[in-house]
Amino acid sequence: MNAPRVAVIGAGVVGALIARELCRYEAEVLLLERYPDVGWGVTKANSAIVHAGFHDAPDSVRAQFCGHGNALFEGLCEELGVPLLRVGSWVIALHKADLDVLEHLKNQGEANGIRGLEIASPEELRTHEPALNPKVLAGLWAPTAGITEPWALAIAAAENAVANGGMLLTEHEVTDVEVRSGSIRALSVAGRRESVDIVVNAAGLYTDRVAAMAGVNGSPLIPRRGEYILLDKAVGGLVRSILFPAPNPASKGILVLPTVDGGILLGPTAEDLPPEAREATDTTTDGLRATVDGARRLVPSLDLSKTVKTFAGLRPESPSEDFLLGPTPVKGFYQAAAMRSPGLTAAPAVARWLVREVIAPEHGLTSRSRFNPYRPAPRRPFELSDQAWAALIREDPTYGHVACHCNQVTEGEVVEAIRRGARTLDGVKFRTRAGFGRCQGGSCADTILHILSRELGVNPQDIAQGPPGSTILSGKVRP
Ligand SMILES: Cc1cc2nc3c(=O)[nH]c(=O)nc-3n(C[C@H](O)[C@H](O)[C@H](O)COP(=O)(O)OP(=O)(O)OC[C@H]3O[C@@H](n4cnc5c(N)ncnc54)[C@H](O)[C@@H]3O)c2cc1C
Repeated sequence: MNAPRVAVIGAGVVGALIARELCRYEAEVLLLERYPDVGWGVTKANSAIVHAGFHDAPDSVRAQFCGHGNALFEGLCEELGVPLLRVGSWVIALHKADLDVLEHLKNQGEANGIRGLEIASPEELRTHEPALNPKVLAGLWAPTAGITEPWALAIAAAENAVANGGMLLTEHEVTDVEVRSGSIRALSVAGRRESVDIVVNAAGLYTDRVAAMAGVNGSPLIPRRGEYILLDKAVGGLVRSILFPAPNPASKGILVLPTVDGGILLGPTAEDLPPEAREATDTTTDGLRATVDGARRLVPSLDLSKTVKTFAGLRPESPSEDFLLGPTPVKGFYQAAAMRSPGLTAAPAVARWLVREVIAPEHGLTSRSRFNPYRPAPRRPFELSDQAWAALIREDPTYGHVACHCNQVTEGEVVEAIRRGARTLDGVKFRTRAGFGRCQGGSCADTILHILSRELGVNPQDIAQGPPGSTILSGKVRP
């Protein structure tokens, strides 16, 4: 009997981890993505927090997967060479009414099995976070919360899936799902028909539309926009941990937190948009104002002159305000849908459960004798000792040429990113951090564009910033 053909729709962090998990089994695994690269949907614009797991009620699907996902992150990031910093989080009480909220979150977290939660006094809090608002009344400490790079995790998981026999097909948009006699038969993808036995719908903000293609109807997802401000590394030491305000029903509130590469992130807002506004990732004056006000309530001394970027992400919110996971009435069609926060944290646990406990037993998938969970981390010369870096330069002198000065990225790293799949400036940025720093590509884009052109053997005018149509050069000014 031939191995079953399994298609995962969507190469965000959820789909990439599901595809990697499927590669542990005898199956032909296709990871289908409409964009030219991995992790360019919801995965690229969020708070990047590995949540401890106290924000959600114990009877929610979110709570069931958040704590477990958090626990899996350590091993996963080690296997895949992805950064994870367990910086811990505080929920800050600034008003008397917030004290009850802290108590409630602590009890809820304990009911979810989260360890180490403690309520601390203002004095203790200020020792940990001297920049905090002096009016703070108390704080809920969660030591297991951390920060990561969600896009790096998606890229690494997809790379590892491919190394284990999976196939990543970018610029492959699924436009229809063929169901016969109640079972999955085929997909229309990139203009052709692909027969498949099993489909996992991990299409992020479009999971409802993909489900509708299979005749699985539900309410449309609500895009809930979150706007952010990113501050430069120059102010990076201002906070050590993730600072949450007391949450509200729509979101966990506007936060102040460190990023893994040393900056400070402020946000996100929470604004429900109409169902058709799924690409509305523009920022607004009102949103950014609310971000500043919310962040300054926690850390009044924030210096906004150190802003390097503003951006927005869209949460795929379901009317039930919970994840939609597992089998559907169509045989062979599974979902990992409506994965808003803490979807990144939950993703490893969702992938494991869906594949190991649902799909594999239901379809009698057998384990592959060889699965290598390790993916070599990209080299980062600036993190090496002087001796190790000198040895690397002797091996390949391009690791001594700096391409991005803000984030200290060498030409060798850019070339390595291209060999691992980058085809665009954004592809290089998300793999190396080149262009992510203070100048936002202003000074390095030209260098990187020419390295891309040289390595891919294409004209510089054909290199795009990101999605098709985002080319930067229109032609030569002088012959
Ligand atoms: C503002 C905000 C803050 C957040 N903060 C956190 C946080 O701190 N911690 C946390 O745990 N979670 C957080 N989340 C949630 C987390 O970001 C998401 O749960 C996670 O990124 C969802 O990943 P995904 O793979 O499901 O979706 P996506 O990353 O969107 O991936 C889906 C992919 O499917 C592709 N696709 C869509 N339709 C098709 C099609 N027809 N054919 C082929 N491909 C298709 C898309 O192009 C996309 O790449 C936050 C989310 C937002 C928006």
